[in-house]
Amino acid sequence: MKYQSTRGHEMPQTFSEILLGGLAPDGGLYLPREYPQVTADELEAWRKLSYADLAFEVLSRFCDDIPAEDLRALTRKTYTAEVYCNARPGDNTADITPLRTLGEEGGTRLQLLGLSNGPTLAFKDMAMQLLGNLFEYALARAGQELNILGATSGDTGSAAEYAMRGKRGIRVFMLSPHRKMSAFQTAQMFSLQDPNIFNLAVEGVFDDCQDIVKAVSNDLDYKARQKIGTVNSINWARVVAQVVYYFKGWLLATDGPGQKVSFCVPSGNFGNVCAGHIARMMGLPIDKLVVATNENDVLDEFFRTGTYRVRKSAETYHTSSPSMDISKASNFERFVFDLLGRDGDKLAKMFREDVDTKGGFDLSGTPEFERIRAFGFVSGRSTHEDRLATIRGLSERYGITIDTHTADGIKVAREHLTPGVPMLVLETALPAKFADTIREALGVEPERPASFEGIENLPQRFEVMPAEVDRIKAYIAGHTGL
Ligand SMILES: *Cc1c(COP(=O)(O)O)cnc(C)c1O
Repeated sequence: MKYQSTRGHEMPQTFSEILLGGLAPDGGLYLPREYPQVTADELEAWRKLSYADLAFEVLSRFCDDIPAEDLRALTRKTYTAEVYCNARPGDNTADITPLRTLGEEGGTRLQLLGLSNGPTLAFKDMAMQLLGNLFEYALARAGQELNILGATSGDTGSAAEYAMRGKRGIRVFMLSPHRKMSAFQTAQMFSLQDPNIFNLAVEGVFDDCQDIVKAVSNDLDYKARQKIGTVNSINWARVVAQVVYYFKGWLLATDGPGQKVSFCVPSGNFGNVCAGHIARMMGLPIDKLVVATNENDVLDEFFRTGTYRVRKSAETYHTSSPSMDISKASNFERFVFDLLGRDGDKLAKMFREDVDTKGGFDLSGTPEFERIRAFGFVSGRSTHEDRLATIRGLSERYGITIDTHTADGIKVAREHLTPGVPMLVLETALPAKFADTIREALGVEPERPASFEGIENLPQRFEVMPAEVDRIKAYIAGHTGL
């Protein structure tokens, strides 16, 4: 299996060659040269597999340069009931991503696929935990080390730290705005005592943290000497690890070959739903892929009209589903590549020239845009009021509390129900992470999984730093010994 850049100008690479990197040198994103195909018979045979072994079957088709027994050991180490232990009472923890039926609506079953039972209570753990083990394995094999530098306002940073804690050959330097995260998020990150995790609380806002990361990454000498890397959402291994739970969801929702299901995906950077697209291209019987956005509706606008218009920062809203607050969707280029019939030159022109100079592109009325329906895509948007109403409605009707991102998903899923086709809404976080909005909607505190009781009282390990690039660089160098 070889990988190519969406912009078409790179030598084909193996999985291991792109594992630790980000963008391709031509500015594109990596995709496999063709999607491996899974037959209906293979799918039926996979019904009896554990999640870990299903992950092995799916991933082995994409990373054939890792010996099979090593890959199987990695998936078995990653996808355990001990790591993904935060499922609701009544859900089957052994499924790793348990499927819960909410009820009959619109002539079909409305279901919730629980992706948020990992250590940080959000779906990013599904891929990030595997990434931690893959990175450790690949670095040991190459005799290398890696220093991950990131900026976070909460979610991604904690998922990365919980994935990389205690891993040999890896250190994490995570910048966060001092005293600006919620008490819960702060406790989640700062209570980690692992010596390879460095929490740097920067005296500034999130944008200051992000600017520092950019400045450090642009110093190529320093970056090479200190072996600096990132774990952002365009990493291919993260996308492919997410393909697995679309297969698991289909297997849990059906009982025979060829039965179709739809998925609704609360979306921001398009990484999650891109994995659904890939599962469908591999032959998984998916009817619709429903893209749900919040008030930051750049994706909904595209799927309704064919116009992709990147938002400016002033047009990017802070919402109560903050992990979907994006101005441009960094994984979207992967999907557009397929939409254009994999024409790298055309894609390069659209993303390099049109997006960078005109702020977007317009495919309305083109044959390419017509293919969107053939790929199963539809979309919708949801607002703060919708979230409150949906959280209340589900609590009253089904006795379940969902988080704000999942509420966006439920709201939009209900607009695209097809009789007889189960609708699986991906649960991308647990409500305990977004207590303020749950209190606003329901007037009560969300339940916390047992392992999170009293987390705010644990001792915290962090360093307060000024928002100065040179001080951060010196701190990192002082702790890598490089
Ligand atoms: C990251 C995130 C999303 C958005 O996922 P993308 O892959 O960026 O589309 C949605 N919900 C939650 C809770 C998240 O953390």
